[in-house]
Amino acid sequence: MKIVTWNINGIRTFRGGIKKALESLDADIVCVQETKVTRDLLDERTAIIDGFNSYFSFSRGRSGYSGVATYCRDSATPFCVEEGLTGLLTSHEGAVGCYGDQTEFCSEELQLLDNEGRAVITQHRIMCQDKEKTVTVINVYCPRADPEKPERKQFKLQFYKLLQCRAEALLKGGSHVIVLGDVNTSHRPIDHCDPSDIDDFGENPGRKWLNGFLHGGAQDEDRNEEEGPHEEWEVTSTDSIQGGKFVDTFRHLHPTRTNAFTCWSTMTGARQTNYGTRIDYIFADCQLAKKQFVAVDILPEVEGSDHCPVWGRLSCSLLPCSKPPPLCTRYLPEFAGKQQKLLRFLVKVDQQKPVQSEPRGALPGSQEEEERRENLKPHGAGIASSKKRLLTSDPVVPKGKKPKTVKGSAKPQGSLLSFFKPKLTNAVPSTKAPVKQCEKSVGLDDITSSQSSQKDTSLVCNGSPPLYTCSSTTEENDQLTHRRHLTPQPSMGHSDPKKGASSVFWKSVLHGPPPPPSCKVHGEPCVLRTVKKEGPNMGKQFFVCARPQGHCSNPEARCNFFAWVDKGK
Ligand code: ZN
Repeated sequence: MKIVTWNINGIRTFRGGIKKALESLDADIVCVQETKVTRDLLDERTAIIDGFNSYFSFSRGRSGYSGVATYCRDSATPFCVEEGLTGLLTSHEGAVGCYGDQTEFCSEELQLLDNEGRAVITQHRIMCQDKEKTVTVINVYCPRADPEKPERKQFKLQFYKLLQCRAEALLKGGSHVIVLGDVNTSHRPIDHCDPSDIDDFGENPGRKWLNGFLHGGAQDEDRNEEEGPHEEWEVTSTDSIQGGKFVDTFRHLHPTRTNAFTCWSTMTGARQTNYGTRIDYIFADCQLAKKQFVAVDILPEVEGSDHCPVWGRLSCSLLPCSKPPPLCTRYLPEFAGKQQKLLRFLVKVDQQKPVQSEPRGALPGSQEEEERRENLKPHGAGIASSKKRLLTSDPVVPKGKKPKTVKGSAKPQGSLLSFFKPKLTNAVPSTKAPVKQCEKSVGLDDITSSQSSQKDTSLVCNGSPPLYTCSSTTEENDQLTHRRHLTPQPSMGHSDPKKGASSVFWKSVLHGPPPPPSCKVHGEPCVLRTVKKEGPNMGKQFFVCARPQGHCSNPEARCNFFAWVDKGK
């Protein structure tokens, strides 16, 4: 049995065809988060995939927000499925049950916690060493605590508590339990690219919750990582196990692996320097983790989202239910019966036409910065950076403009990679000698935080791709040049001596924006950005190094060049 979790950051990540995507992930159960599909946006091509049965949870609030979905192969058809954690969304037969003690939540709280489409629970029959058992798979997209919205911190913690309540109740009820998804908290320093930058790493309430939820979560803070996996799980009664009842299966099988991240900021290009966090997990109850999980790994080379997939293989096999439970999307009235057949027919016809009746743009998938990840605070001093990761040699070229070369520590999976063939820049090994010491001068974030008296991700790129047009160096053709001078636009940062003359000409005719300064370390044209955070500097523009964000010891990553745009010129 193989299971996959992936925050896809919009169902459009599967734009090459969901069936193909699911096939290439090569799993029995594929749990995706942040589909950004709400009921109003769900179309048949997304919901009904030949050979699979699917189960969605939708946000009841905002359209195109949050959402999770579990796709099961027909050979892995669950016998019970529920949307949400509370049971409040369950009025149908085939519910999973085992809700636990919810008395610490008021009814309004419970309703709100299940209102954003953050959980789907499927229950499957499995064969473990000739014994039939059940495993309950909880697919979750845990809330992110937006620092701007303090009330969301509480919401996130309440969600964690509810998740734990439900997971433990299911375990107590006799089922094995897998909790997987985007948990939105990196557990230990090893799971974070720059933990030393974060004050009181372990004081984060999400980490504290993980310490309690996971077996040995707290005591492992002091563990020597050389000690290897836990060997003290011989206890059979789940109630008598000290600490949490669940195991982080990846960390169990790879106790000392560093730079194993699943999420990177797209805003700063941090994936190119592997400056990320591990916040996507497959948790399993101790018994299942120890006896059945044979392999777990991340797939950092699979792109398309700001997260990568995580997969786990279990030695047990699945016993499918003969008929999907009531929550299956194929029973949704909009897809059921004759209408379904008609729609299928129409979709097929549409695909042969040059213009589709339903544009791809209708599918949600754009980045929502307000849902960006809290665990990644871009910054300077700290641990050594990844040496396995390779850098782009030409960071001035925006993503998507050049064919990519995949390089990674793991062997790329041919079919999978060719399917998710997006937008990386050329990745080439660094040949430069490493810089021996970190820049001691003030970093970008320090400057902006001291200016705006707020330290956080206050900087947002000025459009996408975040590049600044230099009128004297970046012409590609005269027509473009003309347009750019009239309206400064992002462009590629190539300099072409042949175009120098026309550039001078146009510069004499039209006054374009001043050329960007070059950063001191790399000597490359900077990018223009704008302070988006409220405060005295809001709206002010500044130049920073155009390279992707990375650790300060990484000479290929963004240097700390910073300069305000001088409006006086
Ligand atoms: Zn630089």
